[in-house]
Amino acid sequence: MKISQYGSIDALQQLLILGDQYNTHGIPSPCWITKHPQRIHYTQEGEEYCFVEVTCRDGVQYGIQAFGDEAIALYIEANKCYMCGLSMLNEYNKDIQPIEETIDGVNYMFDSIGCALVFKKLRSIYGIDFCLNN
Ligand SMILES: [Zn+2]
Repeated sequence: MKISQYGSIDALQQLLILGDQYNTHGIPSPCWITKHPQRIHYTQEGEEYCFVEVTCRDGVQYGIQAFGDEAIALYIEANKCYMCGLSMLNEYNKDIQPIEETIDGVNYMFDSIGCALVFKKLRSIYGIDFCLNN
């Protein structure tokens, strides 16, 4: 796993990747983004602000927030296809039509039907142990 220069992005990647495996009790507790940031917000001081809500199957919720350049980086990171890592933002990919798939009670966002199908196929072969480390 690559370590980014921003703590909020590390936190998001850790939750999405590690939560999908096993928590400290040895029980898989996948986490997924329940609030994808739709746009960058600005504080009263005019600083960029971004908030991402992550929920895990065990019911624990995490709020990840960032300001300034980190907010923009978090916004981009939170809007990537779970399978291929392609950006689902219109700014980067004009014809994108992100799709949401619920797999084993967990919502994943993909940039295309193809990615969703590949992911589901891999999951059915490898089970919950299959997870992406990109
Ligand atoms: Zn994709």
